[in-house]
This record gives sequence, C-alpha cells and structure tokens, in this order.
Amino acid sequence: MRKTLLAIENLKVYYHTGRGVVRAVDDVSLAINRREIVGLVGESGSGKSTLGYAIVRLLPPQGKIVSGKIVLDGKNLLKLSLSEMRKVRGKEIGMVFQDPLTSLDPLQKVGDQIVETILEHVNISKKEAYDMAAKALMEVGLPPDRLDSYPHQLSGGQRQRVMIALATVLKPKLIIADEPTTALDVIVQDRIMELLASLKEELNTSIILITHDISLAAERADKIAVMYAGHLYEYAPSDEIISKPLHPYTQGLIQSIPDVFARKEIKEIKGNPPDLVNPPSGCRFHPRCPYAIEKCMRKEPAMIRINENRYVKCWLYA
Ligand code: ATP
Ligand code: SF4
Repeated sequence: MRKTLLAIENLKVYYHTGRGVVRAVDDVSLAINRREIVGLVGESGSGKSTLGYAIVRLLPPQGKIVSGKIVLDGKNLLKLSLSEMRKVRGKEIGMVFQDPLTSLDPLQKVGDQIVETILEHVNISKKEAYDMAAKALMEVGLPPDRLDSYPHQLSGGQRQRVMIALATVLKPKLIIADEPTTALDVIVQDRIMELLASLKEELNTSIILITHDISLAAERADKIAVMYAGHLYEYAPSDEIISKPLHPYTQGLIQSIPDVFARKEIKEIKGNPPDLVNPPSGCRFHPRCPYAIEKCMRKEPAMIRINENRYVKCWLYA
C-alpha cells in the first residue's frame, strides 16, 4: 500500500473575473500521507479553500483547473468523468464546511440526508442505510433520535457533528475540513477537533484541515502547509514549523499569534496580501518581507527540500 494518499502536482486554479484572471492556486505541489492531518494555513485570500474545492472538483463556474494533477490513491481525479467524480465525493473524500446550515438541506430531516448520501453510493436497503446513519450519529456523539430533527432544531455544534457524520459515514480515505470550527465557541471547537482526531484513528483516514489559525493547526495537525498568495511556501511537521519556522511569512504568522506560545511580543505582519490578478513579481511575499533582497523581486525561488519531511520556498535557503 502506498504511503502517499494524495499527491497534488503543479496545480494551477484560476478564476476568470471581470477584473482579470485571479491566480488563486498557482503551481502548488503537496503530498499527504495516509492517516495524516495536514493543516493548510494562511491569511484570507491565500488560496486555501480554492485548493480544497479543486480537490473535489467543486469550484464555482468561473474557477478553472488550468493544469496539474490531483492523484488520490493512484487515481488522477482530474481525468475522471463528472459521474465518476460524484462517486469519489462522499465515498472516498468526505467534506466538512464552516457553515453546516449552508450545506445541509433545511427542509429535510438530517437522517434522510444521511440515508440519501449512503444510498447514492452503496447498494443496500433503506432500513440498512438508516441503521448506518444512526450508527454514524452515535459515533459523533449524537443520540440516534436526532435523525428525526431538521437542521434548525440543532445547535451549531450538533449541526457540525451531523456534517461530520455525513462526511464519515462511508469511511472515506480523505476528509477535507474547511474552517470546520470557526463559527463555534472555543469549547465546542475543541470537542469537534477531538472528534475529528478520533475519527482519523478509527477510520484510518487523512484530514486536510483548512484554517486561518496556525495555532489550531499546530495543536491538531501532524504537518502544516503554509500558503500565501496562491503559492505554497513552507511544508513541514507541525512541531518543526512552530519551534523553528523557516519562511519569513511563517515566522510572521507565528509572531502574530496572541499568547498561545507565550511569546512576549505579538507582531502583526505589515502590509496586506496582494491582488492575485496582478501578483508581485519574483517571491510574492517580497513587498512584506523584512529580509527581501533584490533577487527576491526579480526571480521566484524554487521549493527546496531541507530534510525528508521539510520544504521551504525562499531564497534565504537556496
Ligand atoms: P478565506 O479564508 O478568506 O476563504 P482562502 O485562503 O481560502 O481565504 P480563497 O477563498 O481560496 O482563499 O481565495 C483565493 C483567491 O481567489 C482570492 O484572491 C479570492 O478573492 C479569489 N476567489 C475566491 N473565490 C472566488 C470566486 N468565486 N471568484 C473569483 N475569485 C475568487
Ligand atoms: Fe523574503 Fe526573499 Fe525569502 Fe521571499 S524569497 S520570503 S522575499 S527572503
């Protein structure tokens, strides 16, 4: 069995807008191993969600995968027909989004929604699907009688549990969780993250945790991938990233975390992320980087392998 579950190779995803072409994901390569939680972090607009939606090929109409490969367990998802891709979604890749209210049908009981998902993928009776749905709810800590509830009858945390039950009921190989706890209070957030971590163990699944919060990724993910302005700039085990961030942008993200790592001084990264219709030349971080040299403005650095698990894209290490 391959160690790598998902291999993204030179992926480019652009949005065609009235203002021009937004290069939201621009030549990103990333490999995710089995049973690994990878935190995909970066400021708003760095391309995290675009990357997540591209993997399941659920981009809005103006979003196009321009080139690259997305290989799940040896299968290039970009070569699949739409109906083959529908089979992959839910069965091989589960999705958990920030706001379950927009993903759950408000007019359908949650049990019916889970049963429908099951029956789309497996050939079993409705009764068996219902039993599976009840079990999935229990696994996320909800009593099976919640199957008869409508989404609005549940709390925010319960709805997110239902989303997780939906995402995991068919035991997918990969879960993409896009800001799954951002709308929840800290205690519920913690419980939901515990739940995702325990499901990873039980189901042997890998998780891509998309979050703007590097401290959450540090706490929960095995590895952290740092995106900025459509590029991947650093990828390494979480403990290495936090104890010794290499990329100046990663250093900035860590320095701007309030308190969590007991750093005395909290420093915001100066400036704003660029407009991706017209991104900066060379290293896209150069207008904000305290270490930028002339070369950084001229030429884009290559991704460098520092050790077996550690990669960084910056001239300081070339
Ligand atoms: P956030 O946390 O705010 O969602 P993100 O890191 O997930 O940020 P994306 O949402 O992937 O980033 O956005 C990447 C870039 O693509 C941004 O410049 C954004 O404005 C642009 N973008 C995202 N969705 C669309 C869209 N539907 N049409 C046009 N541009 C888009
Ligand atoms: Fe800063 Fe240059 Fe490294 Fe970019 S390549 S992060 S501008 S030092």
